[in-house]
Amino acid sequence: MAAMPIGEAELGPKTPAAASAEWVWQGSLRPLLGGIADLLLPPVCISCRTRIGNHGLLCGACFAKIDFITPPVCARLGVPLPYDTGPPALSAAAIASPPVYDRARAVARYSDTMRELIQSFKYRDRQEGLPLFARWLKRAGEELLSDADLLVPVPLYPARLWWRRFNQSAMLATALGRLTGIPVECLLLKRMRRTASQVGLSVDQRRRNVGGAFRLDTARAHRVKGKKVVLIDDVITTGATVEACARVLRRAKAARVDVLALARVVEPTAFVL
Ligand SMILES: [Zn+2]
Repeated sequence: MAAMPIGEAELGPKTPAAASAEWVWQGSLRPLLGGIADLLLPPVCISCRTRIGNHGLLCGACFAKIDFITPPVCARLGVPLPYDTGPPALSAAAIASPPVYDRARAVARYSDTMRELIQSFKYRDRQEGLPLFARWLKRAGEELLSDADLLVPVPLYPARLWWRRFNQSAMLATALGRLTGIPVECLLLKRMRRTASQVGLSVDQRRRNVGGAFRLDTARAHRVKGKKVVLIDDVITTGATVEACARVLRRAKAARVDVLALARVVEPTAFVL
């Protein structure tokens, strides 16, 4: 029997009709249908709605207004450092008050376009940016995700979940899980009580506000022991929320707890080395 080229052997031999149908789909139908869809729903910038070439992306002007966090960063907090100090690079904030979690990383600072994108995603149900957000998280969290066992989103209080209809952190974790193949546990952490909005609170007030607010789901608690967990949130402000979650995961004997977010508020004091 003549050897079959590997590609064909994996896909199975094609009949002439199937080959011709595929040619019609690939060669003319798909681009045609894509073109019609673009006419009906033209691709627009996910932030300012200006017409652009492809769906689910940003226009050049909005993209330029994202302050991506790039190295050198503090090894623990993930905040940008003014210059590379060599390992271990730690910010003054991380030395003065080491976080409960091991490492945090965020895609960008919480400002301009990123703030607008997250607020639209969170409060105005605009989800077309989700695939792009997942790709950004994958890149920003490369170090954390390379050997991670589990992605765990920061939960919302059930009443707030009902009001907003979805948990944005769970959506981010699920999209990132699909992209990386890392299992996602959306029901592992539970928010036990309503916490006041963190906006306008001092660091101490925020810490008190979220203290004891999170618990592990008892039926799922065993899944944490010895695991390298990455907590997923949309924004890290003071870090009080993710620290409260990390404390719960540590108590359940997680081997490592890292944090990955779309954005992070960067306090000016974090810059001081
Ligand atoms: Zn734009």
